[in-house]
Amino acid sequence: MNSLFCCQIASAGFFAVIFFADTLKKHLPNRRTIFFQLFLCFMMLSSVFAIFADLGRMYGEPGKLHEVIYGTFLFLQLITCLMLHCYILSVDYRLHFRLSVDSVAGWRAMGGCFFLLIASVMLLSSPWTHLCFYTNDSGLIARTPAFWGVNLILLGMFLYDIGVVWLRCLKFSMRKRMMCMLLVVDFIAMLVAELFRMPGTSFFKVATLFFAYMFYLSLQSPDFFVDNATGTFNRNGFFEIFQERLSYGKETSCLIIRVRNYQAMNQIYGGEVLRKVQRRIAGLLVEKCGKGGVFHIGSSTFAIISKSREGTLALYEKLKEMLPQNWVLKNQVVNQEYSFYEITYPLDGEDFEELVQRIHYARSDHESVHKSGELVHLRSDEMEKSDEKREVASLVEEAIMDDSIELHFQPIFSFAMGRITSLEVLARLKDRNRKYINPEFFIHVAEENHTIIQLGEQIFRKACIFASYNHIFDYGIEDININLSPAQCRYEHLTEDFVRIANQYGIPMEKMHLEITESEFTDKDAVSRTLARLKETGAKVALDDFGTGNSTLSNILELPVDFVKIDKSLVWSFAEGKNQFLNDLMPMIKAEGKKIIAEGIESPDHIDIIKKLQGDYLQGYYYSRPLPEKEFLRFLAKFNKKGKDGKEKASSDIKEALG
Ligand code: C2E
Ligand code: CA
Ligand code: CA
Repeated sequence: MNSLFCCQIASAGFFAVIFFADTLKKHLPNRRTIFFQLFLCFMMLSSVFAIFADLGRMYGEPGKLHEVIYGTFLFLQLITCLMLHCYILSVDYRLHFRLSVDSVAGWRAMGGCFFLLIASVMLLSSPWTHLCFYTNDSGLIARTPAFWGVNLILLGMFLYDIGVVWLRCLKFSMRKRMMCMLLVVDFIAMLVAELFRMPGTSFFKVATLFFAYMFYLSLQSPDFFVDNATGTFNRNGFFEIFQERLSYGKETSCLIIRVRNYQAMNQIYGGEVLRKVQRRIAGLLVEKCGKGGVFHIGSSTFAIISKSREGTLALYEKLKEMLPQNWVLKNQVVNQEYSFYEITYPLDGEDFEELVQRIHYARSDHESVHKSGELVHLRSDEMEKSDEKREVASLVEEAIMDDSIELHFQPIFSFAMGRITSLEVLARLKDRNRKYINPEFFIHVAEENHTIIQLGEQIFRKACIFASYNHIFDYGIEDININLSPAQCRYEHLTEDFVRIANQYGIPMEKMHLEITESEFTDKDAVSRTLARLKETGAKVALDDFGTGNSTLSNILELPVDFVKIDKSLVWSFAEGKNQFLNDLMPMIKAEGKKIIAEGIESPDHIDIIKKLQGDYLQGYYYSRPLPEKEFLRFLAKFNKKGKDGKEKASSDIKEALG
């Protein structure tokens, strides 16, 4: 046994150990990893066949068997070369499999396949055809020009790889590029040494493997992609797979699942308990989607990659039902909610960086913006909308903390009294550019956020302070209309709080009129309970925005309301002759013993109409827009002193009042 042969055995053993050790690790199911493992595998196999070939040469009879083994060895080496080539190209996502006649890459791929097929046939058939090698008279294997031709082409392939690495993989650091170059150069050296039967073949072989492994680990070791807490892949793994799929132009859809209130749970129950929660969710997801597709991309966030949007939508339907609604944590049942996000390439965008931005968005907290259980499509306009919502949500929170919500007041004119007897309190909030935000928008955000409870209380208190500080009832005002959001009605202590605040500023609850808007989403029970309780304290209730489609006549009958506010749209369309509803509606409401306030009064015509229909109160820009405190008081003083007959005199009064 010569020393070269010992080296062959040692290197084959070494490859086997490396290959099996690497197989035991958890691997990302991407091209790069797959080709690296195939490379290791074929390197090992070709080493084993190299031993057989050597054994045959040393001890066997020259003959067919020896040639078959040698041919197989050459074939395996060809495949090893190919795997290394594929691995190098896949590192930078340049390994396209598309066979087509209309692209350069397609032609190249077809040419490659053709060459591979011919070379394989030539090598494997050589024991019979002697195309690549034959046994010469001295019993040794000799190579034909065709053999050298095949190897020359392989050499060209590796030179091409070197070019690719050097010119294209610019995102790699210099160290990585050098390592990759060394790998290829060393591989070439190994081939050359073997072809010319020079000493040192085994040395180059081991060195090749060494460089390959170093390069592979320097890119990222398998551990880099694995999340130890759950055993699934982590964020790095997710982005690696995502980027690879995008680079190859494959349709890719992600479902992102976020456990809500995770921060709070973490603070209450501690990290260890929550890791159990993570493990259980991961287990459930893996059960549903298989190990390769589940990624733990943030402490409370999981992602699942599907091949199409339909797959993601179907998965969402399943998971929505399947994920547990409660956890038992430290003997306490904790209600659990989830947020779901969806994004699909190329449907929602083709730019990797932008899609990643949106995925990062889904990883952070947007509980205030998105409802629990709902699937949010991460389109760019959705993102802008929710960014805006988030901004407004934080402005609302700041206003609550700083007690800085502003109030404007809009007068309400009474036909019976011929003066302003009431006012509506309207909340105002400015954005960072000191511009007013649409109140409907910030109120809606506060409702979704549940900050409406504190905001509503602040508005109520400020309205009481305004009334008491300015002795508003001395101006002829009889009551104050304050908007009440249905979301506030879910708060149990609302009535007590309002009574306490009104008492504190000496405002009788009888003066307080609460305007409520019905919608399809309102919790009807909570609203009627709260309104009943408010009425017990003496407060009055108005049904707001009547005629906007959400409220019906049955609301008026069901709810204990004293006033009905006819929405401006109904007044305007009636005035334009577009409908006749008010003709029937107003008498019906009056027959129920409710008073009517008409909104959106902008012209004397509107006043006439409501007067004919026997409405009781008028509110609108004809009298005044909602005004800040000082202006409102000035307006009120002038109007109520002079205006005895609203219609005729109001107009001139207003002009005068507003100067
Ligand atoms: P709303 O309760 O129906 O308030 C009446 C809205 O109609 C006000 O808009 C007012 O400026 C507007 N308006 C009054 N007269 C006229 C008119 O003649 N012509 C026209 N074109 N508009 C008129 P604003 O102030 O923008 O408020 C919008 C909505 O925001 C309110 O509708 C209410 O739902 C909500 N909101 C405002 N402040 C509060 C609040 O303090 N609490 C709650 N819960 N909601 C509020
Ligand atoms: Ca209102
Ligand atoms: Ca209204």
